[in-house]
Amino acid sequence: MPVDRLLPSDEAAELIALTRDVADKVLDPIVDEHERTETYPDGVFAQLGAAGLLSLPQPEEWGGGGQPFEVYLQVLEELAARWAAVAVAVSVHSLSSHPLLTFGTDEQKQRWLPGMLSGDQIGAYSLSEPQAGSDAAALRCSAIGDDDGYVLNGSKSWITHGGVADFYTLFARTGEGSKGISCFLVPGDLEGLTFGKPEEKMGLAAVPTTSAFYENARIDADRRIGAEGQGLQIAFSALDSGRLGIAAVAVGIAQAALDEATRYANERTTFGRKIIDHQGLGFLLADMSAATVSARATYLDAARRRDLGLPYGAQASVAKLIATDAAMKVTTDAVQVFGGAGYTRDYRVERFMREAKITQIFEGTNQIQRLVIARGLTS
Ligand SMILES: Cc1cc2nc3c(=O)[nH]c(=O)nc-3n(C[C@H](O)[C@H](O)[C@H](O)COP(=O)(O)OP(=O)(O)OC[C@H]3O[C@@H](n4cnc5c(N)ncnc54)[C@H](O)[C@@H]3O)c2cc1C
Repeated sequence: MPVDRLLPSDEAAELIALTRDVADKVLDPIVDEHERTETYPDGVFAQLGAAGLLSLPQPEEWGGGGQPFEVYLQVLEELAARWAAVAVAVSVHSLSSHPLLTFGTDEQKQRWLPGMLSGDQIGAYSLSEPQAGSDAAALRCSAIGDDDGYVLNGSKSWITHGGVADFYTLFARTGEGSKGISCFLVPGDLEGLTFGKPEEKMGLAAVPTTSAFYENARIDADRRIGAEGQGLQIAFSALDSGRLGIAAVAVGIAQAALDEATRYANERTTFGRKIIDHQGLGFLLADMSAATVSARATYLDAARRRDLGLPYGAQASVAKLIATDAAMKVTTDAVQVFGGAGYTRDYRVERFMREAKITQIFEGTNQIQRLVIARGLTS
């Protein structure tokens, strides 16, 4: 059963219908094979871009869809219910264009934004390093300025769409301490930039996650976004929005697991009745439904604050924490509903459980979300 959504406009309802159509026709037929063989779905992102689904929340003046964030997130949720790896990459693409959109000059925006927002240019977000994940301020990759621009040296890790993306929103060190980090827009084919082999992951197997290595890679000064030293502020500002994307992805995974489990529970019989009619199992499904619905409400609350121009950072952390923990619980319980069959690759629920796990880790682990929430409570 499709989710019965409360949407703010007829246009939003049409976008959800379009997304479901794309999910049915483009994603559903190939997701299982690509996830099993760990192969990149060539052409899928171009199709999403052509359908206008890669730039929904960005302003129309730069080629975006001009949609409220609450609509964009519900589109993302629909994509994630069908293919989490693709939805994560769409969210990361949006994350990677956020610094240019929010901190770039008009000249920089005119030059690069239209390509990014049309989907001709796929973006990646490169903050993490081997020793700097939660502790982003510990990053070491350096950008040394000279008369012609900057020279990049060092390694980055965990880049979603690494080696495939057309541009990398890179955070590198231009000085000392947390105020010595700057943001750059790096072209994927930059001389001196190479990528590691894709990580062998628990899930999201079809979209590569790689390291990147900069060796005397030179970029022009006009590829710096914002002021020198403003990088960490830019990174965290982008992550507030990105975390809402991950919350929506998590709800999509939870919804898909709930749907599969509900269907199975209405078909499978034991002791002469459908398993959903055993109260112990029916209540398990009821709790899964309640967790999914309430997780959706938390990300919509934060998104509506964002759409109204209100502060939403703490609410984004709450949404990320609640939604990703819900996804982990709901997908684990979905495997339980399937009994032994749930532990095999014959059904999608085992994949959903593997996919849910990463949502508790990236774009700030749930321990880090608690730090952000606690900071907001400290007087
Ligand atoms: C599949 C995948 C895709 C990713 N994509 C990207 C990407 O596109 N771009 C990017 O920049 N990064 C990406 N990441 C990196 C991701 O954001 C980091 O892995 C994450 O932020 C955690 O950092 P870490 O792995 O270094 O763990 P660590 O920071 O080493 O943390 C280890 C453990 O310690 C806990 N911990 C750390 N500090 C504290 C504290 N102060 N209080 C309490 N607990 C703490 C953490 O919660 C965690 O449980 C990706 C990672 C994965 C696995």
